[in-house]
Amino acid sequence: MTSFAELKLAEPIQKALAEEGYTTPTPIQAGAIPYLLEGRDLLGLAQTGTGKTAAFALPILNHIFTNRRPAPPKGVRALVLAPTRELASQIGESFAAYARHMKFSYAVVFGGVGQGRQIETTRRGVDVLVAAPGRLLDLIGQKHIDLSTLEILVLDEADRMLDMGFVRDIQRIMALLPKQRQTLLFSATMPPSISDLAHSLLKNPATVQVTPESSTVDRINQAVMFVDSGSKKDAALMLLESPSVARAVVFTLMKHEANKVAEFLNKNGIRAEAIHGNKSQGARERAMAGFRSGAIKALVATDIAARGIDVDEVSHVFNYDLPNVPESYVHRIGRTARAGREGCAVSLCDAEQRAWLKDIEKKIGKPIPVVTDHPFHSEEARLSTQRPPVLGGGRGGGGGGRRRSGPPSGGRPGGGRGGAPGRGGPRPGAR
Ligand code: AMP
Repeated sequence: MTSFAELKLAEPIQKALAEEGYTTPTPIQAGAIPYLLEGRDLLGLAQTGTGKTAAFALPILNHIFTNRRPAPPKGVRALVLAPTRELASQIGESFAAYARHMKFSYAVVFGGVGQGRQIETTRRGVDVLVAAPGRLLDLIGQKHIDLSTLEILVLDEADRMLDMGFVRDIQRIMALLPKQRQTLLFSATMPPSISDLAHSLLKNPATVQVTPESSTVDRINQAVMFVDSGSKKDAALMLLESPSVARAVVFTLMKHEANKVAEFLNKNGIRAEAIHGNKSQGARERAMAGFRSGAIKALVATDIAARGIDVDEVSHVFNYDLPNVPESYVHRIGRTARAGREGCAVSLCDAEQRAWLKDIEKKIGKPIPVVTDHPFHSEEARLSTQRPPVLGGGRGGGGGGRRRSGPPSGGRPGGGRGGAPGRGGPRPGAR
């Protein structure tokens, strides 16, 4: 799916999307919207930040636009249930933005504020009501809202609603809805309570799942160690000697470096194999089999070779070199913490690669904790403002004469910043 035009949304909606600057549907949108336009029920497994609000809001608005009829007094055509007032308000604002070129009415209701205005906005009926469950039940109980003509129901962040103890409220609301309706359930996780709820509410649902890269990233215990390039081998050996390392993937930028690192580790008692594009298929398969069986503790790989590594029990990823493309960092560390497991990712950052670390932190939206309490710590690397090497052919720069300097200190790289995860493109000039 490359454009919203392919999604067959009504013209006023398309116009609003263009004004919002949306050009390409996100995966949850591309996956869910076609089903929803057909009127199917949907189970959407997606977190906030994936574009899930538009994934349900756009087809609802399309339905309202193409099936124009007024909601009856106190009635609601589409109801979105959300766990918190913040989320409810945000969803309301999104609807208003996407509907700005069409006739449309909506209201947002939640507790903790007076109900007078909420009653006023729902009195004549609304196309869309966004509601927190408790306040909605209050207003229904007082006969200010009537859900008997509802056409579409959305449960957003259903797992959070259950965690917050709304299960009874949800059941009470369900009992008031017409049987004939379209139902959408969105949840970031799928514990048994959610599959039960989905089972009881959805009829023959389509399922669309998106696992944002950041969800894996969040489960991984990440750290960075600043070291001089000359100490990397010893630092890697120290890390691999830890008894907590069961199986590790060690990443290098260059094939010849992967060979050297594997050789060094083997000499020092760690069973390691290099895998990269210059190895024969047979050699790669033997290395993978040894790794799976546990005979080989460390696979030393370049980014391209690592694509085929699909082993669930990788306990650690070590970035011997940082990747020059921030996306590769996310792919690399995603070799650990698979199938819901925990994982650790430790990066060795030298002065030359310091700039890449900044890009990576921007990409993942948070700083990577720095570990300074080790024998190889380099303040020069930590404080480096060097330009990163230009890749292709040999490594540039990186000459000798580096010294360990400065007093050891803690401190975090670059400070915290909150760039939007998952939206960065490759750096210009990167491979
Ligand atoms: P959500 O997951 O619904 O909270 O959306 C996350 C953010 O992505 C919101 O700020 C949306 O405005 C934005 N967004 C949603 N869909 C798109 C899209 N197709 N293109 C660009 N931005 C989008």
